[in-house]
Amino acid sequence: MTALQLPAHVVSAVMRLAHYAGARGWVPATSGNFSVRVEAAAFAVTASGGDKGSLTAEGVIRADVTGPRHPRASAEAPLHAMLYRRSPEIGAVAHVHAQSAVLASLLLNTRGQVRLEGLEMQKALAGVRSHQDVVEVPIFANDQDMERLSAQIEASLGNAASRWGFLLAGHGLYAWGSTVDETLRHLEAFDDLFSVSLKRKGIPV
Ligand SMILES: [Zn+2]
Repeated sequence: MTALQLPAHVVSAVMRLAHYAGARGWVPATSGNFSVRVEAAAFAVTASGGDKGSLTAEGVIRADVTGPRHPRASAEAPLHAMLYRRSPEIGAVAHVHAQSAVLASLLLNTRGQVRLEGLEMQKALAGVRSHQDVVEVPIFANDQDMERLSAQIEASLGNAASRWGFLLAGHGLYAWGSTVDETLRHLEAFDDLFSVSLKRKGIPV
């Protein structure tokens, strides 16, 4: 299926996510992938390859949350499908290779998590009311087998600590939200929180 079988506003929403990330340098060398839920069992996702910063409608395809991966779908589409399947409230998912996320996954690992605390910007994450809350972002080992990785992450998720996103070590960030706006806000917040946390430890970003 192609973008022709998708509502125009959904295709535009995927493009908005991709262009936003591209403008910030978070998806170098054709990396990154983005999706928006179409209905309970379907989502629109970026096709494999291509510069996401200049994504066009032809680069957005329809995928099923339970079905086999579309031949043109991003190799990481199974991770998007898993998130939509397990969390009906998720409306959009973004995956970026932002340097702040890659560095945080390698240098701020505390027992398999990045612990964010004492930062006002934590309140940009849905449901966080105070800088005194501790936000734990899980880190999973990277894996080129996305089906296996997806199954492993699905088995590990399910706690409050994974409400907004997770990191793949040495790879990047997955973040999501109930809407595209919330997903963009979470991406921006994570980039800022990771950058500040790295600098706090004397690591230049
Ligand atoms: Zn990636």
